[in-house]
Parts: sequence; C-alpha cells; structure tokens
Amino acid sequence: MFDTIIIGLGCAGYTAAVYTARYKLSTYIVGTEDGGMGLTAAEVGNWPGNIEIRGPDLMENFKKHALSFGDIVTHKIARVKEVKKIDGGFEITLESRDTVQGKTIIFATGSNKRHLGIKGEEEFSGKGVTYCATCDAFFYKGKDVAVLGGGDSAVEGAAIAAQVAKKVYLVHRRDEFRAEPYWVDRVKEKDNVEFVLNTNALEVIGDQKVTGLKIDTPYNGSDILKVDGVFIEIGSDPATALPKQLDAELDKRGFLKVDEAMKTSVPGVFGAGDLTSGSNHFAQFTTAAGEATVAANSVFNFLQAGE
Ligand code: NAP
Repeated sequence: MFDTIIIGLGCAGYTAAVYTARYKLSTYIVGTEDGGMGLTAAEVGNWPGNIEIRGPDLMENFKKHALSFGDIVTHKIARVKEVKKIDGGFEITLESRDTVQGKTIIFATGSNKRHLGIKGEEEFSGKGVTYCATCDAFFYKGKDVAVLGGGDSAVEGAAIAAQVAKKVYLVHRRDEFRAEPYWVDRVKEKDNVEFVLNTNALEVIGDQKVTGLKIDTPYNGSDILKVDGVFIEIGSDPATALPKQLDAELDKRGFLKVDEAMKTSVPGVFGAGDLTSGSNHFAQFTTAAGEATVAANSVFNFLQAGE
C-alpha cells in the first residue's frame, strides 16, 4: 500500500509529488496525460522565476523534478476508472482493471473544457471546432478563425492564433473581458484581430469542414463569419467524477470542497488545483502549486498522526 496516491499529472499533481517524495512518502502518481492543462499555455509569463516559459516546457520541468527522487515515486499514464474506500485507505482501479492501494489520496484532476452546445459544434468537432486555441492555432496558418470567450484562455488564444492566422475574430458575449489586461492589450496590438462583442455564437456551419460561424448580431452586415476554424474557449468545469465516488462534498459551484489544509470532507482525501474550492477559484499555476504544497504537507501530518 502506497503512502499516497496522487491522481493528476498537471501542475498540482507534480508539485504534490515533489513534496511527498521529500517527505519520504511512497507515492503513486497517475493520470491520463503528462502536463495536464499546463500544456495548453503557449506562453507562461506569471510563473515567478521564469520571465517567460512555454507551458509544455514548464510541465516537463515539473515532471522531471517529481520523478528525480528515484523509487519513492511511481509514475503511471492510465485512466483511473474507480476509487473506493478500503480498510486502512483507498483503492483505485485503472482502465486495465489493475488496482492500486494507498493510505491517502490527493485529487489533482483539474478541469474539463466546457462545450457551448450550439448546432454543428459536435458535428464539426475535430473538423475545425476545437477547445484549445493555443494548441491548435498552428494548423490554421494563413486562414481565418473565430475564438469564442472573454477569459484568459480566449484572449491568450486569440493573441497566439493571430501570430499565424490571416484573421482572428474574437467573439465575446459582453464588451468587457475577464482576461488579464496584459493579454487584452496584446490582442489589441494585433491588426488582424477583430473584436466581435456583445455577440453570441448560434451555429457552426460547414460541409466536410467548418466554413463559418452564425452569430446573433450582424457583424459588418452579415450574421455569418466566414472562418475555417472555431476555437471554443468558454471556461472549464472541475473534474470531480472521482471524488464524487467517495461522496466527497462539493461546493455550490460544483468544485471539490477543501478547507485551508486542503482536506476534503472525507478523512484521508485531499484536493489540489483547478478542481477545488480553494484559492478563490482562481486557476493559475501558482495557486495549483500552492494548494498542492499544502495538500502534501497535510498528507504527511495525517500519516504521522496515524489518523
Ligand atoms: P473563464 O475565466 O471562466 O472565462 C470564460 C469566458 O467564456 C468568459 O468570458 C465567459 O463570459 C465566456 N462564457 C462562458 N460561458 C459562455 C457561454 N455559454 N456562451 C458564451 N460565452 C461564455 O475561463 P478561462 O478563460 O478558460 O479561464 C479559466 C481559468 O484559467 C481562469 O482562472 C484563468 O485565469 C485561468 N487561465 C489563466 C491563463 C493564464 O494565466 N495565462 C490562461 C488560461 C486560463 P462572461 O465573461 O460573460 O462570463
């Protein structure tokens, strides 16, 4: 039985593993994709100590650090299907049906990109509709694209897309942005970005691939933006399917409820990163790393106390 099982291979998961390894706690860290949401950050300019670093490079550094402690950390790429309480701890079941047992669990499963639910979205998913502008913009070199949303993901996505696309329409339902002013200014500097504000997307139009986006407010006299790509960046929902299996309490917005020690309502179960109610729901590398640090410390205290 491992001292702890960490589920999630993003910023929170790997930070927690760095700390549990240094506490000499045998650690099993598992997730579907190395790097998690951090992979989607084209440029990270708010990770102190690095004025600017690519998200995938930062996440590679996290992984290398967490796995630098030798056998104390076991790393596995796999989907966890089930989690249940057993005597003295918890058992997870992987998609392969293999099981792993741990005395404690840290959920660091992050969040899942939200879908808009408009006509044509599902049909053209992967055929021009994607949910990561920064990851997929490269495929739209010299083409016209629309980025939907007004948060950091959308505005950063529009800035990155503008580096390669011919034209970028930033379509937002309001005329104010949630995004950092840093990113809004970056986008405003681009002469190939058009702001389509106070506007909702109604339908993705296409044949074999996307050819346009129907909108509810005419822009330049037309209710269709002719685009080859539609990047939907309207936020994410916390990935709480696994903690729910343990009946861990969620907050009113559906985030995994944690206290200041990152304890959930289930003894021995902790949370860190974008899925939790911590850090005022502010999803940053720094907040995820901070929460994971506290969660690992709480695991150490929990095991020492023999709770
Ligand atoms: P977000 O901050 O929740 O913003 C989502 C945006 O999508 C909002 O502008 C929202 O509009 C819009 N939206 C939501 N539902 C919609 C709908 N049904 N139809 C039309 N528009 C809709 O999500 P995010 O941008 O993905 O960011 C999530 C978290 O990750 C944030 O904490 C953010 O700071 C962080 N993040 C940080 C970075 C970075 O630091 N570089 C990069 C990416 C993400 P309203 O504004 O009208 O509500």
